Amino acid sequence: MGLRVVSSESTAYANPPDAQLSLADLEAVRVLGKGAGGSVQLVRHKWTNDIYALKGIQMNINETVRKQIVQELKINQLTLHQCPYIVKCYHSFYHNGIISIVLEYMDRGSLADIIKQTKQIPEPYLAVISNQVLKGLNYLHQVRHIIHRDIKPSNLLINQKGEVKISDFGVSAVLISSMAQRDTFVGTYTYMSPERLGGQSYAYDSDIWSLGLTILECALGYFPYRPPGQEEGWNNFFMLMELVINQPPVAAPPDKFSPEFCSFIAACIQKRPGDRLSTADLLKHPFLQKYSEEEYHLSNLR
Ligand code: ATP
Ligand code: MG
Repeated sequence: MGLRVVSSESTAYANPPDAQLSLADLEAVRVLGKGAGGSVQLVRHKWTNDIYALKGIQMNINETVRKQIVQELKINQLTLHQCPYIVKCYHSFYHNGIISIVLEYMDRGSLADIIKQTKQIPEPYLAVISNQVLKGLNYLHQVRHIIHRDIKPSNLLINQKGEVKISDFGVSAVLISSMAQRDTFVGTYTYMSPERLGGQSYAYDSDIWSLGLTILECALGYFPYRPPGQEEGWNNFFMLMELVINQPPVAAPPDKFSPEFCSFIAACIQKRPGDRLSTADLLKHPFLQKYSEEEYHLSNLR
């Protein structure tokens, strides 16, 4: 059996995953989380005892579309294994209307889970997190030429070792468009850039908008766009969309955060795509230089 969960350093050039892995060999341990499309379970391989996160996506789609999605997932699960800042995808299956994806288990969950527990993530840790996420995004954009399309707190995962990795990359354009058509999609927060919401063409810089919004949400402890006059969440997706497209963009409050942090957020959350910095330029931003990774190691984030 070639299936092992090993550290990211040693898997930089990992072997392809074991082609023999079968769903029947995985036993459920517990539910890790739920998304719009299905649930994620912690599973154990019956013979090797290796643990994984198993994501199931309910899809009522036709045979042709389904085959396309699984094909795209298979291509990408092999090639994306080279980056330590991206959650490894070991396998994908299709059975009875459900696409199952075997993922690397990230034992501290997502940034969405962290902000649910701690409310806010302090600025120095956000610098360390942003640095790792940007390295992953830079790999997707510059090396793989992939737009992620779904950067948000629940898709940035963290483990006890202090590693942050990007999950659920929009490698499958078909999957994304089939997901977007489900009615559950409407009514959730949107991290989509104004150009995407407006139905225009979009590119890598669309991910930069989503990253800025995600990091600002982690800093504030709430989604930065708020319905006028009320504190609770959005119940009208179209009002939120209107606000993102037509109003000035949200920004970090300068009385609560350092000038470097505010400048970093402003470099991401720009309405004109061309005004946003690229991953390479953001990696050189003073905000990322301000705090040392040793001092603010993510294993200390509580
Ligand atoms: P969407 O359905 O739009 O993608 P989502 O990102 O919230 O929304 P999921 O991707 O299913 O939905 O993830 C839900 C939760 O499951 C995450 O917030 C996280 O707690 C947990 N989770 C997902 N993947 C993993 C993983 N690889 N390791 C550990 N926990 C995970
Ligand atoms: Mg997700």
